[in-house]
Amino acid sequence: MNKSKKIDSCRLCDSKKLLKIIDFGRVPLGNNLSISSESSMRVDTYKLCLFRCNKCNHFQLNYEVSPDKLYATNYTYLSGVAPSFIKHFDRYSKWIIKKCNLNSNNTVLDVGSNDGTCLNAFKNNNINVLGIDPASLPSKIANKRGINTLNKFFNRQSTEEIKKKYGQIDFITSHNVLAHIGNIKEVFESIFDLLKDRGYFCFEVGYFLKVLQKNYFDTIYHEHLDYHHASPLVKYLLSIGFSIVSITTNKIQGGTLRILCKKNNIVRLYAQPKKFLVKENNTVINNFDFLTNWPNRINQNMIQLNKVVMGYYKEKKNIVGYGAPTKATLILKMSKMSKNIITKIIEDNDLKAGKYMPKTNIKIIKYKKNELISADVIIIFAWNFFSDIIKKLKKEKISKKIIIVPLPKVKIFYI
Ligand SMILES: [Zn+2]
Repeated sequence: MNKSKKIDSCRLCDSKKLLKIIDFGRVPLGNNLSISSESSMRVDTYKLCLFRCNKCNHFQLNYEVSPDKLYATNYTYLSGVAPSFIKHFDRYSKWIIKKCNLNSNNTVLDVGSNDGTCLNAFKNNNINVLGIDPASLPSKIANKRGINTLNKFFNRQSTEEIKKKYGQIDFITSHNVLAHIGNIKEVFESIFDLLKDRGYFCFEVGYFLKVLQKNYFDTIYHEHLDYHHASPLVKYLLSIGFSIVSITTNKIQGGTLRILCKKNNIVRLYAQPKKFLVKENNTVINNFDFLTNWPNRINQNMIQLNKVVMGYYKEKKNIVGYGAPTKATLILKMSKMSKNIITKIIEDNDLKAGKYMPKTNIKIIKYKKNELISADVIIIFAWNFFSDIIKKLKKEKISKKIIIVPLPKVKIFYI
């Protein structure tokens, strides 16, 4: 159980007709950070390769790293660190409460609830909340702040446990989690089973169409087994009995897809999602030439990043990174930057501070104003929180810095 394994059929439609889109070679796990520079250089690497299903057009990795390795005790992602996330969930909870008529008698379950940031927004609106997450540290943080959180994987077994203890659930939510899960069908089916009749399920996942259009290739990493767009998901969800009520997108995390489903007696695809699918069909997600050229565009951009950074390095400028998200690992690999070039990476998340970026020797330092005073150049690796970071730097009166944003195209400006 829980072994690393090759994936040789489509995770949504079971077809074996898979086509390789891009191969990044062997890459270390970006979220399991080491406590010393020596151990960071010794970490294991795993194949990272993206495939497309020729039958339903779903995109996925062809290799699954054991979840025990991915979500070990040193897993460090916390959703509550970014102010824009807190705002997002506040707006989201209000939208859902209205749309699904939730009240204080109802319970919301968050699958992959992390540190409880999303559930806290529902709790603030007097809705009962329950979280479940396999990562131990974020679960502990959630329980400490009063968000009842089960520290385990969501699957058939835990679904039965939840049913026994709490009964069926009125509303199930999930954010940026359903690309991570080994047995995705078991999770969707368990959610369907756990919901009350006429209950709603809403989830947000990274929108792969935006990744393609904006060149955000660094969101491809081992934790993300699936790269979703609406069409294959809708086909699958309808097949297990969900009605599709609405499909929308938002700008969180560089582009997010939100699908609202309902457990109805009659399976229905509502008019709005129908229109959404027609529109999506006419984008690059179906453009074979675009997909074939994508690796080339990524390489060109990374060569450009290396050129720009090396230029500053030769001028003896002090170059630091800002943000050590999982995706920084792939940018560092693809742009061939190491410790000698980047002196450190500044980070707001306490759990990452003091650790080392895998296979690079670069130390992660907890944000303090003083840490940035000697820096000449700041590379923003956490580009999805770009505006949060710039706001923070301006508020702290940090100035005379060269800022580099690596994606969608290398951009340089000054603050
Ligand atoms: Zn498929």
